[in-house]
This record gives sequence, C-alpha cells and structure tokens, in this order.
Amino acid sequence: MRKDKCDPIVSGFAMTERNRERTGRRKLTRTSAIARTVQGVRHLDIDLFQYAPCCLKPQLFIEVKSVPISKSEWAMTRNLADEFGCLAALVVEAWYGDLGVQVYDGETISDLHWSDTEGYLVSVMEKARDDHAC
Ligand SMILES: [Zn+2]
Repeated sequence: MRKDKCDPIVSGFAMTERNRERTGRRKLTRTSAIARTVQGVRHLDIDLFQYAPCCLKPQLFIEVKSVPISKSEWAMTRNLADEFGCLAALVVEAWYGDLGVQVYDGETISDLHWSDTEGYLVSVMEKARDDHAC
C-alpha cells in the first residue's frame, strides 16, 4: 500500500468524516478497496440515485453524510447532476435525528435546511420527480 498524504499515520491528519472511510475505520466493499489501488483516478459511491421508471433517466443524486461538509466535498455529485440536467442534494443525517438538506439546481446551492421531520427531503425528491419530462 502506498504511503501518501492521505494516510493519517504519515500525515498526522485529524480523523474526519471524509477520511475515515479511506483509512479503513468503516467497512469497505472489496470493490472499493480494489479501486483504491488504481493510481491517478478517483471513485465516487452514490448514496442515492433517483431516476424515472419510464426512461431510466436520472432525476436526483444525493450525497449522505452524518455531519455538514464543505461545498467542494460534494462537487462530483453536483457535476453528475449537471451532466444529466437534474438536481443534486446533500443530506446530513444528524445523530440526534434531524435532517439537513441542501439542494443544487444547476445554478445555486441552497442553504442547509434543517428539520426534525422527513417532509422537506420528500418534497425535494418529489420536485425532482415532477421536474422530469421525458
Ligand atoms: Zn422519463
């Protein structure tokens, strides 16, 4: 295994939500572990991908985290949405039960909308569904 700046033993980086997975604290799929041996590329696990049953086209890509993250940390999720002309969202599932939802509509990223119910997130999914036109 290559030692580099991503290795907390080498770098002394603090253990964050973002690098926990990289360093093996969270269980990785075998495929993710294999993917990490390929140099010069990055991979992304899509946490949720909503698509139309009629044409199978994407409506919404969601990145799910347990703590808020910076804009740059879900840039690839937004790039995918741009590619398909659909919505992207960041969902923060707080340990105490609240949901934080940030929506990207192709132009702007909304503020993190916090709620103790699921209604707002459902409304974002329904908007993505209703905006879709075959
Ligand atoms: Zn369709």
